[in-house]
Amino acid sequence: MREINLIVVHCTATPVGRDCSVADIRAWHLARGFSDVGYHYVVRIDGTIETGRPLEKVGAHARGYNANSVGVAYVGGLDAAGKPADTRTPAQRKALKALLAKLRGRFSGARIIGHRDVAAKACPCFDATSEYAAL
Ligand SMILES: [Zn+2]
Repeated sequence: MREINLIVVHCTATPVGRDCSVADIRAWHLARGFSDVGYHYVVRIDGTIETGRPLEKVGAHARGYNANSVGVAYVGGLDAAGKPADTRTPAQRKALKALLAKLRGRFSGARIIGHRDVAAKACPCFDATSEYAAL
């Protein structure tokens, strides 16, 4: 297993209420020239956690920070007008928190941050660093 010191939270930058699966995202990412879906986990609108790229493999989700990180995305992140928004459903909030707690347990010492903390982006459209500081 590679060394993990960072857990990066993302959104899929899709409109509120539009669900998508790892298979969908894999197809988008393959079309962009990636070798596989860029994220390691995707949390769907109903809270279902899907496994993406194997944890052992370096992801493609945070430029400059992929080598030692895990990428977790929730489906959503845009309002109906296409503007950045925290669209997490209660089920997604619950599942995301449980998944991140589990990852923190496995990779002790890993920091949980939002994509926007390492890139000039809105992603994941909420302050993940503060929200998950206590996990
Ligand atoms: Zn992102």
